[in-house]
Amino acid sequence: MALGNIIDSSGAQVHIEEDGSQSAVRPGFLNAATSHRFPILYRDEHGVMHDIGSWTVYSSRHVVIGKVAYGFTLILINSVIKTLVLWFIFLYVFRRWLGQPITRLADFVRELDLNQMETPRSIHLPGRRRHELHFLADAINLMLAKLHRHTIHNHALYKELEQEKQSLSALNRSLELRIAERTRDLAQANEQLRSLSLTDGLTGIANRRSFDETLEQEWRRSMRHGTPLMLAFIDVDWFKPYNDHYGHLAGDAVLRQVAQTLRQSIARVGDTVARYGGEEFAIIAADTDGQAGADMLRRMCDAVHALAIAHAGSAMGRITISAGVASCNPGQPGAGLDGLLQAADAALYRAKMEGRNRVVLATELIVSP
Ligand code: GH3
Ligand code: MG
Ligand code: MG
Repeated sequence: MALGNIIDSSGAQVHIEEDGSQSAVRPGFLNAATSHRFPILYRDEHGVMHDIGSWTVYSSRHVVIGKVAYGFTLILINSVIKTLVLWFIFLYVFRRWLGQPITRLADFVRELDLNQMETPRSIHLPGRRRHELHFLADAINLMLAKLHRHTIHNHALYKELEQEKQSLSALNRSLELRIAERTRDLAQANEQLRSLSLTDGLTGIANRRSFDETLEQEWRRSMRHGTPLMLAFIDVDWFKPYNDHYGHLAGDAVLRQVAQTLRQSIARVGDTVARYGGEEFAIIAADTDGQAGADMLRRMCDAVHALAIAHAGSAMGRITISAGVASCNPGQPGAGLDGLLQAADAALYRAKMEGRNRVVLATELIVSP
């Protein structure tokens, strides 16, 4: 009995159902039946072979393809199961040997704080068989050990630097103090030098340089304020004979006494008494007209006369002075400092000419053209 697509005895393609009914094979490449006939042999008791029949195997491309597809399906399922098993094994091994160590390394590196390298840190991966991740851990440990060493070294350096900084700032402070001290000393010395440079060594009153500066200042100030300025020249009478008679040292003592007396006789604190040179003195008085100036100078003449310093070479028998007084308003047109100086000098000359021990007030200023 044959089922499915067969080739009947006439060689036609026939399809046989299970109930035995026959139908024509549907045309198509896959449906065409193929057959192979096998003989059925019988071997008797004498060993002779007898051909007693045959059996025929029918098939079709459809059946072959079905069998092949079945085989492929089996192979596929087999492969999938094997692949899955291998994959799970791989995953397990990967996690066990690589995944966990990498995670540990990553966590360790993430938690590292480079600001806290004073305490030594290191990582150790488990496992007896060492692989590349262990080498990586070793390299990280080596790097951390170096960082730790450098951090300790840097801390020591930083401490040293701090100490240096403190000692430097202490040095700086003491230097600043010394500089301030020196600056103060220098300012004092400067002040002393300045006052020395403006003071006459013999008499202790203003010297010629101071006189020149003061006269110019007072001239400008009087010009600004529109007030008169008084200038007087004083000369000790017959002083050369005094020196000749009593000696130069005694002459010096007289100059000191005269200077002292003049200083005590000024009208105001701001008035200036200066040694003009030799035995000549000068008085500068701001806001003072000729009359007031002449009065002041007369008081000075009297005061020196009252000292009663014996002078055998003088007709007065004592040390006296002569003075020439001039005053002008610097703001006035034609007024000039040279004119004032010349007027005072000329007045002094007249005082000498008129007999000495007197004050002459310049009546008119010598006005420069
Ligand atoms: P006159 O009344 O005309 O002024 O007569 P005089 O003798 O004073 O004449 P003059 O003014 O020319 O003399 C100045 C003298 O003053 C000359 C000098 O011996 C003296 N003399 C100048 N400077 C000093 C000084 O610093 N010390 C002393 N001891 N004498 C001085
Ligand atoms: Mg003189
Ligand atoms: Mg004189």
